[in-house]
Order: sequence, then structure tokens, then C-alpha cells
Amino acid sequence: MKELRGTGVFNGVVVGPVYFYAPGRCAVSEDKVTDPEPELARFEIARLRAQRQLKGLYDQALAQAGEESAAIFDIHQMMLDDQDYIDSVRGLIEKGHDNAARAVQKTGARFARMFSEMEDEYMQARSADVLDISRRVIQILCGAEGETPGLEVPSIIVAEDLTPSQSMQFEREKVLAFATAKGSACSHTAILSRTKAIPAVVGLGEDVSAQWHGKTAILDGEKGLLIVDPDEKTLATAQAQIKAQEQEAQELETLKGTPDCTRDGREIKLFANVGNIEELQDALSRDARGVGLFRTEFLYLQSSDYPSEEEQFRVYRQAAQLMDGKKIIFRTLDIGADKNAPYFDLPKEDNPALGLRAVRLCLARPDLFKTQLRALLRASAFGNVSIMYPMITSASEVMQVKEIMEEVKAQLRTEQVPFNEHIETGIMIETPAAALVSDELAPLVDFFSVGTNDLTQYTCALDRQNQSLDRFLDIHHPAVLRLIELAAKNAHAAGKWIGICGELGGDISLTETFLEMGIDELSVSAPKVLPLRRKIQSL
Ligand code: PEP
Ligand code: MG
Repeated sequence: MKELRGTGVFNGVVVGPVYFYAPGRCAVSEDKVTDPEPELARFEIARLRAQRQLKGLYDQALAQAGEESAAIFDIHQMMLDDQDYIDSVRGLIEKGHDNAARAVQKTGARFARMFSEMEDEYMQARSADVLDISRRVIQILCGAEGETPGLEVPSIIVAEDLTPSQSMQFEREKVLAFATAKGSACSHTAILSRTKAIPAVVGLGEDVSAQWHGKTAILDGEKGLLIVDPDEKTLATAQAQIKAQEQEAQELETLKGTPDCTRDGREIKLFANVGNIEELQDALSRDARGVGLFRTEFLYLQSSDYPSEEEQFRVYRQAAQLMDGKKIIFRTLDIGADKNAPYFDLPKEDNPALGLRAVRLCLARPDLFKTQLRALLRASAFGNVSIMYPMITSASEVMQVKEIMEEVKAQLRTEQVPFNEHIETGIMIETPAAALVSDELAPLVDFFSVGTNDLTQYTCALDRQNQSLDRFLDIHHPAVLRLIELAAKNAHAAGKWIGICGELGGDISLTETFLEMGIDELSVSAPKVLPLRRKIQSL
């Protein structure tokens, strides 16, 4: 029996086999192919995809840093169009029967050598570029092969670490729990497991081993424990705990349909946070009275390329319709930091949490933003839709966002596309700056929603991804609570409402404090809706 302790992320005891997840690296195989045709097609698709990525990088660099910096991506695009390069790859596939990735790798190396042997310094420098474009194509080719693990039985997924997109690829029914060597309790992967009601423990340390694959384990999300190969007595205790859990779940069921009201009649809106349609349905089945945060970025994270306006519109419309008149607040794209998809080709940053993320990225790439706003506005004709913007730090950002929003609305009017002219729009208060200038922000918007996860990270200067800082983290830090109180005061002074959609909103030890501050709405992960209702009703 091996017992490891980490940080519990979502409560619950489970027993099941370990599935050790080790995502593959992009290793290029030397295998030959018998039929070159499919490889030629794969190369062409990957080449065109790489071209699109480079075009995106060019536009981004042009907008942010000017023509000179952007020029390199133009050169890369030209290289990928170079007939000699293409002929070389095709020749290796057709005549040498190399697989596509291997043919690109060989061609890249050959051209790089050729460039480096040239006299001209400028041409010598192109050696690194040809290696770079080849690496890009190889990565696409490797990614295209997919690495989604097929689980045969419900299992405890154990891994070194998991990104949000890696954790999302598992079928929900097959995941009993997550356990990772690294990771922190505030990371987006941790949030994902809470939203999906998946017991999880992170930060188990380096003793986590691939040797456990297939062995029986117990995971206790509350105690932050993973026990591999448990003895009979430990197993029996865990099974008794699982029974008790089931009983509690039955008790909570009886709260469905009852009001979110304190004993002295104070009502609070009890909403849920979701990331997709499946989670929205789960939230409704747990009797959430609305959706206070729809994290739209997951739609982007699940795609291998930018989702089109039409694709987005279909999802947002379906979500709005499923709500059947209840409020749904869509948060615009919050990409960056730990939420990243390769096709965004975000620049490498030393401090990504302080970098080009969320609304900043949308303002830097207005076309991307406008596509999403069009889709959201169109969906507003089909339900009670609100929109909110993440990572706001100043009134000037809100003004810029509003300007773009007005432009998109004007376009839709010209095209006679229906949308809600009076759509409610709000901002997240998740930076200390936003909380401190909330008196200036409140008149510009219809509501505030406090993102306590980022607000805590930025107020306490504690990277939410860094597990080694967990011991310095005071999740009830008075500085954060004071900022929330200030934002609430300023929202109400301007006649606006304020909610909390960060994880702290579901912390029942703070419910009374939030009610005293006058918080109007709490939006929590779906599994917390009924326990929070029980708490509200007890106050
Ligand atoms: C937050 O920061 O509290 C929040 C709700 O946003 P996210 O966790 O998605 O960054
Ligand atoms: Mg946030």
C-alpha cells in the first residue's frame, strides 16, 4: 500500500483502477509507407494549416509591433510556398516512401545545411527559419494523429500534470478522479474538475509513478489523498464513505425547487458556472437558477482551429434556448496564461499571467473579437443573454470594448440580423485595479461579476498555477474581501448589481459575509448549487 498526500481540489471518495496518462511527444518515426498518396495529402493539409498559422502570426505582429517585426512571418510563409521545398518533401514521400513527418524533417535538415553553407550572411540566417517552418509542419502532422486516450473502464487518471485541454479529452463517464504530481488548487484544470464534479487531488509530488497503471487505488478529494494498492481494511472504510456520500446526495435532491432565500427572507440569485452545453444541462438538472459564467474559451480550446462565427452561434443559441428564459451570462474569450490552444500561436511571454490574455488579446486582435461578438449578439435573439468581459483593468478598456461592440451592432443592423438591442453587458472584477476604480467602471456597465480566482492571484501576487506557493495562499485574505466589498459598494451606488463567479462564491464559510456585503448573485460550479442552497436557507 502506497499513500501520497497532495492538495484536494474537489471532494469525494472514489475507488477504481489507475490509468496512468503520459501524453506522447512529437517523435518523428522512421517508418516507411507503402502507399504515398495519403501521406502526400497529409503533407498538403499540414502545409496549408501552417500557412494559416503564419498568416495569423503576421497579422498579430503587424498590429502589435509593426511591419519590421511581422516580416519574418511573411518570409516563413514564402518558404512554405517554395516549390523546391515542396518538391523535395513530395519526392521523399513518392520515391523514398518516407512518411510525411519524416520527409519534412529530412527536407528541413537538407535545406538548413544548404543555407548555412552559403557565403551571404543573410542567407545563412535563413537556415534557422527553414528548420522552424519544418518543425511547425511536423507538429501539425503529429497532432493530427491525435492522442486521445481510450479508457475502457471508469478509472482514476493519474498524470504528471494535466492542461485543461488534456483533461477535457477524457469521456466524463470514464473518469472517476484526477490525480496529478504537479498542479495547484487554483489552476484551470482544478476548476474544470470542480465544474465537472470530478474528485481530484493535485500536487502529489514526484513519487507519482507510471508503474501504478492498472492497480487499484482510493482517491479522497477532501483529504487530498491517493492510496495505491490499499489493504482490505482501508478499502472497506473507503467503501463505507462512498455509501455515506450517496446518502447525502439524496438529501440534497430534496432541495430542488425550493427558494434561494435566507430564513429572514433575503433572496440571492444562485447561478452556475459552465464551460459547455453538457455542463449547462448538468447545472439545470441541479436546479441552478441561471448561468452566471459561461466560459466561452473552452469552445476554442476544444477546436483545432478558430471556431467560425456560425459554429459559435450554434453553440450559444443552443445554450440560450436550453435556459428557457433563465439568464445566461457569456464571458468573452479568456485565452492566455494556462488556457492556450496551439493555433493561437501566442507569443512566448515571461509572465503570461500578466501578459496578453483575455480582453487584452481581444483588443489586440479585433477580428477575432468581432467574430465572437457577432455570434453572441445573434444568439441574444434566442434567450435571456448577457455578455461580460474578463480581465478589465481600466475605464479606457471598457470604452474600447464598447466601441467595438457598437460597431458590431451597427453591422448587424445593416444586415438586418436580429439581436437584443438592450443586451445586458458587464465586466469581471478580477484585478485589484478594476476593484479600486470600480466607482469609475460601474456607470459604464450593467453589472459586475467578481472573479475571485484571479483577484486573489493578482492581489496576493501568488501565481495560481504554482503549487509550491499553496502554503502562502490565504484563500480568505482580508485584502481580497475588502476589494470585493468596495466593488459591491460602488456597484450599488451606481444602481448596478454585483455577483461572484470565482471559486470563493461557493465557499460556504463565506456565504454570510457575502450576504452582508450585499452581493446579489453567487455563481458556482454546478455540484455546489444545492449545498450552497442548503447554506443560504440556514442563515
Ligand atoms: C476568476 O478569475 O475568478 C474567474 C472566474 O475566471 P477564471 O477562473 O476562468 O480565470
Ligand atoms: Mg479569471
